[in-house]
Amino acid sequence: MDSSVPVAIVMIGPPGSGKGTQSSKLSAFLGIPKISTGDILRQVASGSSRNSEEIRAIMETGGLVPDSILADLVTSRLSEPDCKKGFILDGYPRNIDQVIFLESLLQVKNYKLLVVEIAVPEDVLLKRVTGRFSCRGCGAIYNKYFLRPRNEKICDQCGSADFAYRSDDNELVVRERLREYTLQTLPVLDYYKAKHLLVSVDGNRSLDEVYDELTCHLSKVL
Ligand code: ADP
Repeated sequence: MDSSVPVAIVMIGPPGSGKGTQSSKLSAFLGIPKISTGDILRQVASGSSRNSEEIRAIMETGGLVPDSILADLVTSRLSEPDCKKGFILDGYPRNIDQVIFLESLLQVKNYKLLVVEIAVPEDVLLKRVTGRFSCRGCGAIYNKYFLRPRNEKICDQCGSADFAYRSDDNELVVRERLREYTLQTLPVLDYYKAKHLLVSVDGNRSLDEVYDELTCHLSKVL
């Protein structure tokens, strides 16, 4: 891959598509940061800033946090020095207004934009999302249906026995997140497809298979 051109990779996929995991692997491989708006928002929501309460309430019901809040968070994160060589956006943009905003940001910075869709059927998504949990020690992600730790109660990566389920991962909320995805985010995919910026990867396979297809696609265009 040509590392002299700074690249902005946008990862898009419904909840449970594995885009967070794939973004992390790609981030380590390319040596550019992964920026997850979900993670940033969860951090703000757990604090006591002006917007914390509002963000927490919206995330708990599976809705989208207002664009203006995202715009501030993304602008400030992308201006940090580690983004100079490129970055991976995980979870942004999620609607057409966010697409337009990101375009205006990237215009100034002159990045090569590439958008990756990770596509997964809805029934698989529900199991993936409702079964998902993570290690509080190192952040490793597991699933009670598909990916348990080798030793039931101990993290494979760091040995911690402290696991967390996300509070927005129950089925009702997941359905609402999927609804938002269909309504707001599918038009984003159409938009990028029409601009020939979209690469679509079949996400209904093992993490390694998805990652191999992803990097194979990227090596052709980067
Ligand atoms: P998932 O992709 O599985 O839904 P995320 O961690 O990406 O999980 O997002 C969790 C929640 O954070 C979303 O349901 C939404 O409430 C909020 N969120 C994340 N990114 C955005 C965004 N770009 N715009 C609005 N809300 C967002």
